[in-house]
Amino acid sequence: MPLAAMLVFLLLFFSVSATAQITVNQDQIALTQFDTHYYIDKSRTQSIADIQNAPFSSATNRLTLGTNAKTTWVRFALHNSSALKKQLFLHVPEAYHTEQLTLYLISDSNTQIRHSIDLENNQAQEMLYGGTAVFPLILLPNERYQVYLKSDVFSHQWFTLAIYDETQSKHALVSENYDIAIMVGMLLALMFYNVILFLSSRKKENIFYALYLVSGTTWIALSYGFLATLFGIYGKSMMHLHLSLLTMPSFLILFMISIFETKRLYPTEHKALMFVLLLLVFDLVFGVFDIIAALKPASTLAAIMIVVTLSVSLSILKKGNPLAKYFLFGHGLFFTFNLLAIGYYKGLLPNTYVTSHGVGIGIMLESFMLAFIISYRIRVLERIEKQQAALQVQANTDPLTQLYNRRYFDQATEAVLTDDTRTRPVCIAIADIDFFKKFNDKYGHQVGDEVLVVFADILQKFTPDNAIVARLGGEEFIISLPNHSESQAFALIDKVRKQIENTTISSHTHDALSITASFGVCEIESLLKPAIINADKALYRAKENGRNQVMPFSTLNKPRLSLQTQ
Ligand code: GH3
Ligand code: MG
Ligand code: MG
Repeated sequence: MPLAAMLVFLLLFFSVSATAQITVNQDQIALTQFDTHYYIDKSRTQSIADIQNAPFSSATNRLTLGTNAKTTWVRFALHNSSALKKQLFLHVPEAYHTEQLTLYLISDSNTQIRHSIDLENNQAQEMLYGGTAVFPLILLPNERYQVYLKSDVFSHQWFTLAIYDETQSKHALVSENYDIAIMVGMLLALMFYNVILFLSSRKKENIFYALYLVSGTTWIALSYGFLATLFGIYGKSMMHLHLSLLTMPSFLILFMISIFETKRLYPTEHKALMFVLLLLVFDLVFGVFDIIAALKPASTLAAIMIVVTLSVSLSILKKGNPLAKYFLFGHGLFFTFNLLAIGYYKGLLPNTYVTSHGVGIGIMLESFMLAFIISYRIRVLERIEKQQAALQVQANTDPLTQLYNRRYFDQATEAVLTDDTRTRPVCIAIADIDFFKKFNDKYGHQVGDEVLVVFADILQKFTPDNAIVARLGGEEFIISLPNHSESQAFALIDKVRKQIENTTISSHTHDALSITASFGVCEIESLLKPAIINADKALYRAKENGRNQVMPFSTLNKPRLSLQTQ
């Protein structure tokens, strides 16, 4: 214990040291790394006179001190060792998130200059350029100032200081926020793209992702001073935009629900997500009325949401969902960079680009991963759709002749019959090859098969495009002919019959084979089934009458009118 006490004493002794001094004598001045000292005024009431003897601790020009340092003083000495007057500028680029900044310059001769920027006061702030505060520092030859900057903030204390001459100051202001502009630009581009995707695909996940991006972009633009720079608005007037901290996880959860289809596939995980969503929405509604109070539980909510979303995606991964690993990776990155940022805001981690921009980097990385998930899912869905289409074709097709089967024929013909815009009659024709059993016996079953394929091709080729040609089974076929009266159907089918009769067929073993077929034709009056029975009756009559002919059903009661047109 005495050793620990000694260490603490030594630390205190060295931290409460003399004022850090910056000597300026060069022509171009751009100081972005220098030593300072800081002091936290817990009472938030001490004056410049009070704090001059306060126990300052050593620091650099980059500070992050957490929420217990709402009023913080920074001190350093500035000495112009040249023989020329120096016109310098102290920049505080993260001024946009402070409540008030006050600068005191105390010369060796004890003259005091005071500049103050009140960000809550909406009057034109002549020392505020976008989100950056710029204080003038004029140093006569050989002059030395103690510089005291007091920063009052709403919640977390963090800022960076820089000192420039006039030219460098202008350069710094021009290049301020370009990195944030790139982040915001990329996220907005992704957002528009997803809105367009939604308009064409109507997939909910695109709209949830777009809204997640809007929330993330708002948070980044707000928290990194981009909104302040663009629109010159600061302080409490922008407080409501912090609700993006709640909308972002809400839309992420909706995205998860949609992409993993949790309601249908993972009911337990779905309940956990809905629970967190409910908490978030509750706080969100509360925040519309009292934003300060609503933001208080935000970090607890964020912790709950991280735990739940990570465990849900782990559980979905275990259950074999291929998208879960990508989500987990993206969300893991988001979580890691957010941890760095929390460490930074709480003053536990140093002020570096990565720690101070951790949330933004986390949002960016997760956004890219979610975009990847969306495109990956589109690929998977396309593959499934192709497989389904192939299965559908298989289910509707006769494997030997590649014609439709009976199932498809019935469906497709019913669809024609029930079409409200139909005005013309629909006919069906049933075909049966004559003496096919004998044919098989004579040439073999395989040749028979080859003939069936040729027969099917002729039916397909010599009927109109809107005709539905199907194999009923064996050597029997059926054709439906939209826009055909029975006499028109008869004329068409008789041409087909002649074509069959006149075709010489070559098989793998025999040349110059020929067949004939008989047909029954019938107009569908209202229902398909009775028309098939009637067409079959007509076909039977055609067989009876000597085969190789087409028999219209309407002539069945007039046997002498059998139509043989050889
Ligand atoms: P008809 O119709 O003129 O009265 O005489 P048919 O010999 O064609 O009579 P039926 O309809 O009774 O015989 C059908 C024959 O068709 C029986 C069978 O040998 C043949 N067949 C049925 N399906 C197939 C098939 O998939 N391949 C082959 N090669 N032959 C088949
Ligand atoms: Mg038959
Ligand atoms: Mg037959």
